[in-house]
Amino acid sequence: MFLLTPSETKIQACIDQLQQRFFKIIRVNTLSEAKEELLAQIPKGSSIGLGGSVTLNDLDILEEFRKEHYNLYDRYNQKDWPATVINMRNSLDADYFVTGTNAIIQDGCLLQMDSGGNRVAAMVYGPKNVIVITGINKIVSSLEEGFERLTRVAVINSKRLNHQTPCNFSGICEDCIARGRICNATTIISSGKRPKGKTIIILINQEVGY
Ligand code: SF4
Repeated sequence: MFLLTPSETKIQACIDQLQQRFFKIIRVNTLSEAKEELLAQIPKGSSIGLGGSVTLNDLDILEEFRKEHYNLYDRYNQKDWPATVINMRNSLDADYFVTGTNAIIQDGCLLQMDSGGNRVAAMVYGPKNVIVITGINKIVSSLEEGFERLTRVAVINSKRLNHQTPCNFSGICEDCIARGRICNATTIISSGKRPKGKTIIILINQEVGY
């Protein structure tokens, strides 16, 4: 595991950089506070899309979003894969897209990688608002460190989801071109200003996800 808790100085410096880049930061101490803040940000009646995220699973938010006063594009509760894909596509036009990220670079950028691409696409363009839920363990010093983090996450996810990739069996990235390759699309988001205030980051003072 590579859970390294950054110092308060490093966290604060990162928050300052994120704010300068027009991300809105809400800092909380616990998962339950994060859940409360998340629900407070999303008006009833909103449509919601979800990005695949261990942090979101830890938040245990699905049952709330499934309540009738939200319109959830529920990618996790469909009869088959084509129906799941329709929900992922609809999520690109949601009022709110809720997701995690893989790394927050110290200089204020978000770095994430995806298998299908739906999550990274929705974070860049489409939904009216994006809310990122993440722990302080995702803060890294440099883009290089961020990419190292992405690779380690890809290996873990390949194993967790049993993708037929070399790393699932060897435990290390072999820079494969396997059909089941899990790291197909990577984005660096350098600003939260389209429009200003669109991207909210709920930053949890804990190590959350991996
Ligand atoms: S490139 Fe292939 S081997 Fe490397 S992490 Fe991605 S899926 Fe695994």
